Amino acid sequence: MGQIELKDIRKSFGGVEVIKGIDLQIDEGELVIFVGPSGCGKSTLLRLISGLVEASDGQIIIDGDDVTGKPPAERELSMVFQSYALYPHKSVRENMGFALTVAGMPKSDITAKVDAAAATLKLEDYLDRKPKALSGGQRQRVAIGRAIVREPRAFLFDEPLSNLDAALRVEMRLEIARLHQKLGATMVYVTHDQVEAMTLADKIVVLQAGQIEQIGSPLDLYRHPGNLFVAQFIGSPKMNVVDCTGTGTSVTFGNDNTSDIARNAEGATKMGVRPEHMALCPEKDGILVGQIDVMEHLGSDSFAYVNVTDVGLFTVRIVGHSDAVVGDVVGLTFGSENVHLFDAAEKTIPA
Ligand code: ADP
Ligand code: MG
Repeated sequence: MGQIELKDIRKSFGGVEVIKGIDLQIDEGELVIFVGPSGCGKSTLLRLISGLVEASDGQIIIDGDDVTGKPPAERELSMVFQSYALYPHKSVRENMGFALTVAGMPKSDITAKVDAAAATLKLEDYLDRKPKALSGGQRQRVAIGRAIVREPRAFLFDEPLSNLDAALRVEMRLEIARLHQKLGATMVYVTHDQVEAMTLADKIVVLQAGQIEQIGSPLDLYRHPGNLFVAQFIGSPKMNVVDCTGTGTSVTFGNDNTSDIARNAEGATKMGVRPEHMALCPEKDGILVGQIDVMEHLGSDSFAYVNVTDVGLFTVRIVGHSDAVVGDVVGLTFGSENVHLFDAAEKTIPA
């Protein structure tokens, strides 16, 4: 149950193609996350799966059934929206059971299903309240509960946590992870938040402008981004990227410094190194030398923003405290194993 396959799915609105041929296999029980910048087509793709939006071309197969032309109700999927979309005048219990009531299920069965979902979501004490007497996190749990009672083939989430404050978002993220473990259900989850994607997903689908940039596990994408877009989208703070010219095993930077990085660099036009893979060092030992522009102290980490003239600004993550101060002239080092190189087409050059 809950296997979803997209075959060359396309969608145009008024002659403008916004989903440009998506092929994707979502396995039973997987938590798959669509991530990408605002407007890249995440919600449209989710709505295509749900049936709320009709495909212009291509096929959608759920558990072996071609559902491409079928209405949402026949797809047996449950969608959870950012806006919760609860009925304000119905109680939590009525909201959660509404779809089952409409379907004509016997009352005692509905009560049992709502009670079970309420227990899973820790909503037992709120079943008689109206949505307005709930916090944002509780409302979102009701919306999830309403999806659970329908026992769908898969859950579709569209930015379910975006309306919550930062602390609650972390809490709900953990609840969704637990829910996935408990239900073992297929979940397709849209977010623009790469931390949410990294922490929740079995598989991340990175989208840009209606196309898939890369599919992989969170660590796959972190370690082996296939192109510059994915390299800079995955990871926080984002990867430092500067212009360079690669020849043989060396890169030359904009300030004419050359560094042998002991790996194939032929054809590189950009070099990327993540903040956590760089370190400050004495000036004489640096691969590059720059000046500290800004220091940020987060307690657990410090971030040094180091400006290297004619090369660029680098973010360097230091675990714990750093004594470095603004204006210090410092060296920058990084291991060649952590260098990412990109060609003129912004594709990754294999090491
Ligand atoms: P995302 O969820 O990634 O932010 P969307 O899927 O909402 O992006 O939108 C993708 C593109 O499709 C956007 O350019 C948006 O304006 C366009 N779009 C989405 N829905 C419609 C619609 N019903 N009519 C016209 N254009 C739409
Ligand atoms: Mg959206």
